[in-house]
Amino acid sequence: MIKIKKAEYEKILHHAESYLPYEACGLIAGEISGKDKLVKKAYLLTNAARSERSFSLDPKEQFAAARDMRSMGLILLGCWHSHPNAPAYPSKEDKRLAYDRDISYIILSLENMAKPQLNSFKISGEELLMEQISII
Ligand SMILES: [Zn+2]
Repeated sequence: MIKIKKAEYEKILHHAESYLPYEACGLIAGEISGKDKLVKKAYLLTNAARSERSFSLDPKEQFAAARDMRSMGLILLGCWHSHPNAPAYPSKEDKRLAYDRDISYIILSLENMAKPQLNSFKISGEELLMEQISII
C-alpha cells in the first residue's frame, strides 16, 4: 500500500490543474516500512515534453530533487504524472518509457475534474501491477 500525505497529494493536484491542458509530472519520495510506502514529499517538475499526451522529466530538476531527497533522508519511491483527458491507467507510451520496475508510477486523471482519480502501478514491460493507494 502507498500512503500519501494529504498536503502532498494536494500539491500534486494543484500543480496538475495549473498545468492544463498539458500533462504535469514529478517525483515522490519518502520511506518504506514493511510493505508500505509512505510518501512524505512530492516534487513538482517541469514537463519537458510540454504535451497533452506524454511527459518527460527535466533531467536537471530530477538531479536537484535527488539531491534534496538525500539531504532530507528520503528515498525515491516513484514518479507521478497527470492525464488531462484519459483515465488513470498507463498509456502504451507510459509502459514503453517505464524505466524502473521497482518504483511506483502514480497517475492522476483529471478526465472528470470534479472527481480526480489517483492510481498507482508497478510497470514491468507490458505487465502492470496495481498498488493500493490511500491519502492520509
Ligand atoms: Zn501517462
